Amino acid sequence: MLESQGLSWRSNHRGGSALGLVLSYNLPPLWRRGGSEERVHSNLFNQSFRIQTCLLTLLCSALSSCVGVHPGQESAVVTRAQMQMGTLVKITAVARSESIAQAAATAGFAEIRRLEELLSTWISTSELSRVNASAGVMPVHVSSETLTVVQRAVQAAETTDGGFNIAIGPAVDAWSVIEGQRIPTESELEALRPLVDLQAVHVDVREQTIYLGKAGMRIDVGGIGKGYAADQAVEALRRAGAVAGVVALSGDIKTFGLLPGGKMFPVGIQHPRKDGTVLAWIDLQDEAISTAGDYERFFEREGVRYHHILDPRTLQPARSCQSVTVIAREGVWADGLDTGIFVMGAKLGMQLVEALSDVEAIIVDAEGRLLVSSGLKQRIRLP
Ligand code: ADP
Ligand code: MG
Repeated sequence: MLESQGLSWRSNHRGGSALGLVLSYNLPPLWRRGGSEERVHSNLFNQSFRIQTCLLTLLCSALSSCVGVHPGQESAVVTRAQMQMGTLVKITAVARSESIAQAAATAGFAEIRRLEELLSTWISTSELSRVNASAGVMPVHVSSETLTVVQRAVQAAETTDGGFNIAIGPAVDAWSVIEGQRIPTESELEALRPLVDLQAVHVDVREQTIYLGKAGMRIDVGGIGKGYAADQAVEALRRAGAVAGVVALSGDIKTFGLLPGGKMFPVGIQHPRKDGTVLAWIDLQDEAISTAGDYERFFEREGVRYHHILDPRTLQPARSCQSVTVIAREGVWADGLDTGIFVMGAKLGMQLVEALSDVEAIIVDAEGRLLVSSGLKQRIRLP
């Protein structure tokens, strides 16, 4: 069984906390052990990645039994893991030969690295960092990828009634859930409120520019960027000749095709309050899955849990769910929606899911009740 830890894109994970989504492939026992597990670490997204390094080591030993080629079979499966975007990225590529599968995995990692250079706010020269540095000053010309992520973020905001809001950056910094673990005062948050203004995010498609209208604004794509990266990496895998595969950036997973033998990709959804326990299993084909949870990055003070998903209205941690898992065709959509629905709450969130085509969800509400959308009821397996 492979386990994928729900790590942050922008900042580090709380050591020892719960898992996001769990990938499990039962490959034939004859598969030769070997292949390449990579330990290339990126600390660009993280101020501290020591915990993640330990985690990676742990996970890589778990991965080794699933890497290999079955002699005499027409397809090869390669699974490799790297630290990218401040999180553990695991790519599985299925192809006609091991060399093609390896090349496809390499292409997937390269694509994620390329997007990291554009979108990371930990890299001062990235396009998004330049957009943030020019807030209130001037529009910044960006790549079509950056423009797309911001456009899709605006679409997610509109769809979730403002629950999703990429202008949340200044409030995320004020809370600094991992590094600072500090509770900002009400007056501090009040001062930031005018900056969390989606109306002041100006996307000019013709000029291909983004302009943040107020000095001090910061856009934060931590709630949507990993899903987008999973989509783009899958396209890179396909271009390199893979016939099926999975790209998992911790809790943001995109699958395409089927495993050898015609099996779909099984994914386990982490129980938000029972560390290491699977809440439900689901098999995916050509779908993305993404989880937003209050158990991934949080600290506790006087019995109160403070976590990393903020309600843009109150600028306080959103309180109406424990976890939201969204399944959609695209990773960018699943990732944007999970965060936005988490803020909307279980009832309104599930109403929204039922109204959207090709979107399903599993929500654990604030009281720990499980809600499953109508299109999933026959598909999930309880452990
Ligand atoms: P992860 O998989 O990293 O836990 P999520 O999809 O759960 O990511 O999104 C959480 C991240 O999104 C936060 O770390 C923060 O950067 C950003 N964020 C927090 N609240 C919001 C919000 N209301 N709208 C958009 N982004 C948010
Ligand atoms: Mg998200």
